[in-house]
Amino acid sequence: MENKLTIYNTLKRKKELFKPLNPPNVGLYVCGPTVYGEPHLGHARPGITYDVLFRYLKYLGYKVRYVRNITDVGHLESDADTGDDKIAKKARLEELEPMEIVQFYTNSYHDKMRDLNTVSPSIEPHASGHIIEQQAMVKKIIDNGYAYAKNGSIYFDVEKYNQKFKYGKLSGRVVEDLQSNTRELDGQSEKKNPFDFALWKKAEPEHIMRWPSDWGDGFPGWHLECSVMSTKYLGEKFDIHGGGMDLLFPHHECEIAQSTAAIGEESVQYWMHNNMVTIDGQKMGKSLGNFITLDELFSGKHKLLEQAYSPMTIRFFILQAHYRSTLDFSNKALQAAEKGLNRLFSALNVLDKLKTSEKSSFDIQALKQKCFDAVNDDLNTPILFAHLFDGVKFINSVAADNESITEADLDDLKKLYNDFVFEIAGLKNESGNAAASDNKLDEVMDILLNMRIEAKKNKDFATSDKIRDLLNQSGITIKDTKEGSEWEMK
Ligand SMILES: [Zn+2]
Repeated sequence: MENKLTIYNTLKRKKELFKPLNPPNVGLYVCGPTVYGEPHLGHARPGITYDVLFRYLKYLGYKVRYVRNITDVGHLESDADTGDDKIAKKARLEELEPMEIVQFYTNSYHDKMRDLNTVSPSIEPHASGHIIEQQAMVKKIIDNGYAYAKNGSIYFDVEKYNQKFKYGKLSGRVVEDLQSNTRELDGQSEKKNPFDFALWKKAEPEHIMRWPSDWGDGFPGWHLECSVMSTKYLGEKFDIHGGGMDLLFPHHECEIAQSTAAIGEESVQYWMHNNMVTIDGQKMGKSLGNFITLDELFSGKHKLLEQAYSPMTIRFFILQAHYRSTLDFSNKALQAAEKGLNRLFSALNVLDKLKTSEKSSFDIQALKQKCFDAVNDDLNTPILFAHLFDGVKFINSVAADNESITEADLDDLKKLYNDFVFEIAGLKNESGNAAASDNKLDEVMDILLNMRIEAKKNKDFATSDKIRDLLNQSGITIKDTKEGSEWEMK
């Protein structure tokens, strides 16, 4: 199939046609979680965004190697290379080995990603399993003259690097501005400049996560692992690097600097960034009390939640926004997503049982083209679903005998929904749970509403009023709108 996929490249600040370096191979690297806490909404969004990309690239026929790391060492509490290691701190609080924390939350992350129906990456490397490679890259950067040692730590020399390569390409930050905007913080005086960052940190005696090195016992800086593991598994130059927008600076900027300083040229062709999740318009944060884990969402056990939301409701909800837009979670929005998803799956049930005719009253090929155009346009899943819902209207109309479809078109339509809903968007039917019985209800309601439309068309108002009144008695109100009928439970 001809590839027309365009990707918004953060580095170029525009959409570009995706051209892999070595087709049919594609290398995709995505920054994974720091495993020191329960996975939350902020993990679901990149998990699902890059899963759709992975699925679509494979659908297009590419052989994709998808690498997503597990950060299990070196991620300090502050971006300024100060504070505790997040994992070591959690281990101390819970009186566990750091690797027990890592294992526990890695398992939890995997469970939730599976619930969300994401495909496992091809390789999931751990930072702690690549200490030797990280030391080797530090040595390379020192040898190339872009790092310096101070009291057992090694820092990246941003100013020196900036003289030859431009630092700040990705984020648009300029070293001169950084210079005037950052002030010297306590305990950082060993850096030449406050925006220099640690490649290797000396381990203080109380620091438990430590490894021997040429520079004494220490641990790697957080940014280093991604430069090392991406190039180790995907080659010095590879296609796509993804991650959350919150990682753009300093994490990804530092990754570019490290790889360029070590290799002599940039590694990544396309940088992709998914936007953030807000809750009722507010940034999500532990201190704000609006921090919702995926476990809490799936079980409904959180004071802000009016009900439980199934993993597919969450997945569908996330895909109803473009990945570069902010996404605001609220009960209302999630309930609307749940309803929409049920409507989609009821139509798929109807689709399986449609009767065919001599003629089609709908252009299936045009719908298919629109769906491909949407996904090719920088993974525009909200537009994709808008088109799929146009198809839903048609499916329901065929079921009500208001429109018709030929056998060949029906086969095409079934394949279209199978490809876009299941294979590419990665949704699945959650039978056996509450959503499934809601699906059934939607299906029954569609049948009743279609019977009512039929009766009205035949001027059999006695029957159409009877359907409305009986539904009303059982607590279901029907509203007639220009587009058709809607129903609501009282
Ligand atoms: Zn990373």
